[in-house]
Amino acid sequence: MARRQMSLMFLGTASGGGPSDTRNCSSLICDFVAHDDLWLVDCAEGTIRQFANQPQQGFRYKAHRVNKMFITHLHADHIMGIVPFLRGVLGIPEAGATPAYSSIPTTPKLEIYGPAGLRTFVRQIMKMTFTSTAETYAVHELLHTGDVATPCDLPESPKFDQNISDQNVMHVSETPGTDIWADKDGFWREITGDMGKNSNHSERSEVLVDAGPIQHRAPCLGYVFRETGPSTRKVVILGDTHDPSEIAPLCMNPSPVLLIHEATDAPIPSNADSEGRISKRDPAEVQRKAILRGHSTPGMAGAFAKEIDASALVLNHIGGRFPAPNSKNPNEPRATIMREIERQATEAWGAGRPAVAATDFLRVDIPVLGIATYSRMQQQGSAGYHGQQNRRPQYEPRAADTRHSQQPYQG
Ligand SMILES: [Zn+2]
Ligand SMILES: [Zn+2]
Repeated sequence: MARRQMSLMFLGTASGGGPSDTRNCSSLICDFVAHDDLWLVDCAEGTIRQFANQPQQGFRYKAHRVNKMFITHLHADHIMGIVPFLRGVLGIPEAGATPAYSSIPTTPKLEIYGPAGLRTFVRQIMKMTFTSTAETYAVHELLHTGDVATPCDLPESPKFDQNISDQNVMHVSETPGTDIWADKDGFWREITGDMGKNSNHSERSEVLVDAGPIQHRAPCLGYVFRETGPSTRKVVILGDTHDPSEIAPLCMNPSPVLLIHEATDAPIPSNADSEGRISKRDPAEVQRKAILRGHSTPGMAGAFAKEIDASALVLNHIGGRFPAPNSKNPNEPRATIMREIERQATEAWGAGRPAVAATDFLRVDIPVLGIATYSRMQQQGSAGYHGQQNRRPQYEPRAADTRHSQQPYQG
């Protein structure tokens, strides 16, 4: 198959303090494979709406093309959009139809991969919200030694009732998922297997997916997407972390064309903080607290990019202290602070190329040969994220910003 450009689009770039007026929480579109299929990494509340809010200029991705979802961890800012997403893309059952279980597993339209507990979360919320869909989904769990697999039982009666009390009984729109156990090195390799297995496409997958553990306050994963065949582009997308070193062996040989790493908090010097809003904190203390909360600074992200020799570095999961710039004015205080965040990561990375701090709807294109390019598009027509026509001429501090700056990070 002819090689193609790999593209990504950030639908949400806020840390767990979000969503805010300028950022939604984590979800990321991966346009890596042929056949128009899209993959999604994490699925925050509002993901469906972010699909609808894509900038009018240029190409727009369609939510119903998503057929795989990779969840990094179970914090609320990464998973609360899953059930609404399933409801949105799996179609509604025919009017008047009574949902019923089938003893023959169907081919799922959407497959979800993630840590232990994800299957129960999706299943029970689907039941509790009386959601049923025309097509089915499956949850494949990535399990460590010591984790307990979640059964996919059928109920005694084929007729659907909520069955909340028995969490081992599948939801009526669920088809059994796979329990994928870590190998002796603690990694999950080629988790999507051969794409032919669960899909209509007969050709072998051209992008394989590995996963590995990273340190965070909750069990958390990083995903490594790698091409097969003569071209070996590799994209590393990490969940929240204060120490991703465990996954480093998966990220090297060859080194990745792109690393996406969180940068939830950052020390901001007074020369980058014209309003004196966030530069009073001691830099060492900022980093110490970020690590205690399971998160990273731009310097830590840059250091990991250096360790694995990444060719491009994008920072995401940006804390509420750092709202996205709301205009193209490079002198806007928010823009100055984002440049400082990028500068810190760039310096620690030391690759001679600039790191990029993500904003919602940032698009990254990775050509077959060569280096990643970025297009930063602004959402239009949404309150709070102003386009050219109605933006404020200067950034004004607002009550919401003060609130965010006081807020501890979660998620
Ligand atoms: Zn988070
Ligand atoms: Zn988290």
